[in-house]
Amino acid sequence: MTQPRLHPIYADMPVTIFEEMSGLARATGAINLGQGFPDGPPPPALLDALARASAQQSHQYPPMAGLPELRRAVAAFYARTQGLEVPSESVIVTSGATEAVASAIFAVVQPGDEVLLFAPAYDAYAPLVRRAGGVPVFIALQPPQWAYDRAAIEAAITPRTRALVLNDPLNPTGTVASAADLAMLAELCIAHDLFAICDEVWENVRFDGQMHRSLLAEPGMESRALKIGSAGKIFGATGWKVGWIVATPDVATIVGRAHQFLTFTTPPMLQWAVAEALDRPEIAQNCTTGWAETRQCLLGALASEGFALLPSAATWFTCIDLSASGIALDDRAFALRAVHEAGVASIPLSALWEGANAPTHIARLCHCKPEAMLTQAVEQLARWRDGAFMS
Ligand code: GLN
Repeated sequence: MTQPRLHPIYADMPVTIFEEMSGLARATGAINLGQGFPDGPPPPALLDALARASAQQSHQYPPMAGLPELRRAVAAFYARTQGLEVPSESVIVTSGATEAVASAIFAVVQPGDEVLLFAPAYDAYAPLVRRAGGVPVFIALQPPQWAYDRAAIEAAITPRTRALVLNDPLNPTGTVASAADLAMLAELCIAHDLFAICDEVWENVRFDGQMHRSLLAEPGMESRALKIGSAGKIFGATGWKVGWIVATPDVATIVGRAHQFLTFTTPPMLQWAVAEALDRPEIAQNCTTGWAETRQCLLGALASEGFALLPSAATWFTCIDLSASGIALDDRAFALRAVHEAGVASIPLSALWEGANAPTHIARLCHCKPEAMLTQAVEQLARWRDGAFMS
């Protein structure tokens, strides 16, 4: 009997590295510093707002573009935290940032269009570009700074290039584009008439004391940038899957047409709670302050055990240089052995890389965990490394 053929993009694809490593952590009982999520509950004020919304508000379909209260709160949040002036009509609420990325790509990319992606790249981008009929074109960033190289970007641009995807701050490295990088990327987008799909879900998870600056804010970028944010990242509630896209109202309207045939809408009680929490700046600030502390805990523990860290300034992640840390394994072998033998799950950076020259000596660890868990994980990693590689 023959079987109808499923789409090869998915039929030949494994589960994501995040799912794989979390699955192994569950199966082995390992400490999970792989997939990025905080271990504790989200802020009590967010849960109170959710309980109130759940009791008092409608549980039926909210408007497709999002509750007006949340669209307004997102615009106000960006005015307050980034000096961006956008009307609420610029905001489309989505079921998580990944759905926002999908909506943006489906609204922008036509068959045959090329889309520039920077490696390492979040794993959803390339399959979504391909599913839209587009062609991902990877530009490799170079460790340890992961800088944007103008010549490499220019060399990758062709008459078919339609868009670039910029993830800033960058997951998995935790690095942040400089003001000069943003100006250069804006210049190239304008010169070559490109859209910029800006995945800025880590905008509020910065530890360098700098105000986040969006590519959308660069002169001339307003009508070509699609800026994506995430309540899950701002408030440490990754399972909520509440995200949004900000673009000019006419671009946002078209992105909404793509969104209306993906998830259509997002649970209203979650939208009410996020709107309320965004209006109270201390809630998001306290989250970031708490993560700054756990980050210091992980960085300090790793350094004192002789692990070599790559520079980072943002996100819930820090990367270790395996070879400089005395671990003679490539990153995937490290991740698989460490979860089984050291009891610690991580993410191999090369899993977020397509194309040539993937660095294979870097592993990502997540720091938004209780301090006791972080110190225990580092102790287990160090003991295992010392036994396996340093005897
Ligand atoms: N953003 C999360 C991370 O980088 C993973 C999300 C997912 O599992 N798809 O860890």
